[in-house]
Amino acid sequence: MTNPTLVRWHVGRVIGRRYEADSAVRLELDVPTWPGNDAGSHLDLRLTAPDGYQASRSYSLASSGESTRVVLVVHEVPDGEVSPFLVHQLAEGDEVEIQGPLGRYNIRNPADPDRSPVQLIAGGSGVVPLFSMASAREGVEESADFRLLYSVRTPRDVLFADELGALSRTTVDIVHTRESPPRSVRPPGRLTRDGVAAVSFSASASPRTYICGPTAFVETIVEWLLELGHDPARIRTERFGGSN
Ligand SMILES: Cc1cc2nc3c(=O)[nH]c(=O)nc-3n(C[C@H](O)[C@H](O)[C@H](O)COP(=O)(O)OP(=O)(O)OC[C@H]3O[C@@H](n4cnc5c(N)ncnc54)[C@H](O)[C@@H]3O)c2cc1C
Repeated sequence: MTNPTLVRWHVGRVIGRRYEADSAVRLELDVPTWPGNDAGSHLDLRLTAPDGYQASRSYSLASSGESTRVVLVVHEVPDGEVSPFLVHQLAEGDEVEIQGPLGRYNIRNPADPDRSPVQLIAGGSGVVPLFSMASAREGVEESADFRLLYSVRTPRDVLFADELGALSRTTVDIVHTRESPPRSVRPPGRLTRDGVAAVSFSASASPRTYICGPTAFVETIVEWLLELGHDPARIRTERFGGSN
């Protein structure tokens, strides 16, 4: 569905918005000309100020399939140019321009005959495209096992909390870095190499691994996976920028 010939600018109208976490908003856009998109793809969103100044940023699609309803989740980067506006000011009825669907990196074709396990590893808002992949998998009969490892600061920062809990075909492990839920057995703390190894498929299972999040997070996880013996050819990454 992510066909370069279908990529162009579209106008989307905000038809729903709600806070998804402390500093993240879920935006639902109605985009009548949207061609649909694969799970794991993203778009470019462009804002134009009254004086003609434009700014655009990439956002992953939480939605997938043949729908003209597009769902994004935007996490606020303090002092950022675009994300604070999207999180706090963009209102229902407003229009934005979007270009897409984009990205062939994180996409996994459900018809792919490879049935080896799929490991998803997300840092912060990097969970958006990986949630989309896990969510799309719910409706597909296939034997590959999915696991999602999601690193997030506090329970209040968890995106898709209810939907992650409802996934029936993906094992979800959430690791809190700054504050754990009240009855958690794991004290808060950043992931470690051993921590990743404990809740992800081992190299001997030959998983396909998709990692998404802030640049430094992605690079650290890749380094650990290589140390743990994973095949670099089976690791896909998407970097959201920033350093943590
Ligand atoms: C393919 C792709 C998909 C993306 N999908 C999402 C998504 O689904 N949800 C989402 O919230 N964001 C996503 N991003 C990040 C998004 O594109 C913006 O970078 C982010 O919203 C910050 O934009 P800004 O204009 O507010 O900050 P800017 O004004 O661009 O940056 C301000 C400061 O924050 C730093 N910074 C920029 N981005 C980040 C970041 N992600 N984390 C920490 N620091 C940062 C910059 O280095 C700079 O110092 C994605 C990025 C890419 C490349």
